[in-house]
This record gives sequence, C-alpha cells and structure tokens, in this order.
Amino acid sequence: MARMRGDNEMEHTYGKCNICNEVYTTANVEVADDIIIYVCSDCIDKARGNFIWLCLSCGKTYIRPKDLVINKIKDHELKRAYMLCEDMQIIQGIDMCIACNPERIIDYMELHQHTMEC
Ligand SMILES: [Zn+2]
Ligand SMILES: [Zn+2]
Repeated sequence: MARMRGDNEMEHTYGKCNICNEVYTTANVEVADDIIIYVCSDCIDKARGNFIWLCLSCGKTYIRPKDLVINKIKDHELKRAYMLCEDMQIIQGIDMCIACNPERIIDYMELHQHTMEC
C-alpha cells in the first residue's frame, strides 16, 4: 500500500478519515515527517483520552486508553514522557505494526521511545 505523503493539495480537499475510515473530512494532521492524514472531529475527540497510532504501511489504527498505556510502562523516563503527553491529542504514525510485520515489531513504544515529540 502506498505511503501517504502530505502535499499541499490535500489541505483543501476532502478525504476519508484515516482513523475510523467512515467519515469524510477536510481536517488533517501531520503524523510523521511529511505524512499527513485525514482525521474527523470524532477521532480528534477520541485522541483526548486515547493514544492513537496509525500504521503507515497497512493503515491499521491502534487506539489505547492513555491511563492504561501509562500504567503499563515500567521505564521511568518513558513513563514521564508519556505522562507529559497525557493532556495532548496525539495521533502518531508508525512505520509498521504487529499486523503487517509481526516479526520485526516487539513493542513499538519501547523501540521508538526517543521519537516521542512532546
Ligand atoms: Zn474518524
Ligand atoms: Zn501495519
């Protein structure tokens, strides 16, 4: 599946929400460098209480309650980083997920803890 590249033409067009795949919207967010996805207002609302990851390879989304994610983290530094994100609406693009590449991913959050930007 093609990577979603953000270019300016997307900003003014309608697209199907990449998170729920149900709603057409003009709202979009940058989930990774140069990668812009459509996100409807419902899904932006969901991002208040949940961390949302979108696999950029297969398009699968992972929505996890923030408190659950934070409680599960044992690494203190990482936990702190995530706690700082607790009040933010975060939708993060990931290069691969357990569904499209089960061998290479162990725990995305632990592998990519240095990429959190907040
Ligand atoms: Zn949506
Ligand atoms: Zn995937």
